[in-house]
Amino acid sequence: MGAYVNKDAKKLQPSFVSANLLTDTLPENNHTPFQKNNSDIPEEIRNRTFQDVSLCYQCGKCSAGCPVRYYMDIAPNKIVRLIQLGFYDEALKSSTPWICAGCLTCSVRCPKEFNLAGFMDAVREIAVKKKVKVKEKDILKFHKAFLNQIKRYGRLYEIGLVGEYKMKTLDLLSDVETAPGLFLKGKLGLLPDKVKDRKSIKKIFKKTDKKKINKH
Ligand code: SF4
Ligand code: SF4
Repeated sequence: MGAYVNKDAKKLQPSFVSANLLTDTLPENNHTPFQKNNSDIPEEIRNRTFQDVSLCYQCGKCSAGCPVRYYMDIAPNKIVRLIQLGFYDEALKSSTPWICAGCLTCSVRCPKEFNLAGFMDAVREIAVKKKVKVKEKDILKFHKAFLNQIKRYGRLYEIGLVGEYKMKTLDLLSDVETAPGLFLKGKLGLLPDKVKDRKSIKKIFKKTDKKKINKH
């Protein structure tokens, strides 16, 4: 990940946090004052990602290049900012970490080499662990259905994902009109495309703590 690294940026203090930038951190259309709390989420994120949240100096390059920013309630860099400033509840209940596609664009673009995609993973894991009620309706059911496809076939089986998600949510009719177009473009295979070494995939799942997400 060093293709876009600005060497001069490394000379800046990593812990630059300015309280007067807090207003930039507020989610759009939300003027409710945030509550600070004392839990040590940055330490937990450091343990999970091997990086310090204070590395981020809020340049915004990550959010500028994020392909799914439009669908998020809070910009990716602002989630980091909320954690830096101690507004953990707002960060954990945001839909942003769940909408993050893990594409790594932000991590590659970051002048501080902060792995924002990994950070988003950690925020999701902590939100699940703390049983936070995430703003995005049914997002955990979607993630569980997604992971079940990967566990079964080693890669995503789209029809299986849609079927399982719709059964879990009983939301049977939404987006139905998109199916013919996707099918004609070859995006919905009738049968799953399985990887050969599915035993290794199962081992990975066995080693991870999936029980917690399955409880939701
Ligand atoms: S690109 Fe890096 S330093 Fe800039 S706001 Fe995003 S995470 Fe922070
Ligand atoms: S990894 Fe997530 S936050 Fe980063 S650019 Fe991709 S979708 Fe956006």
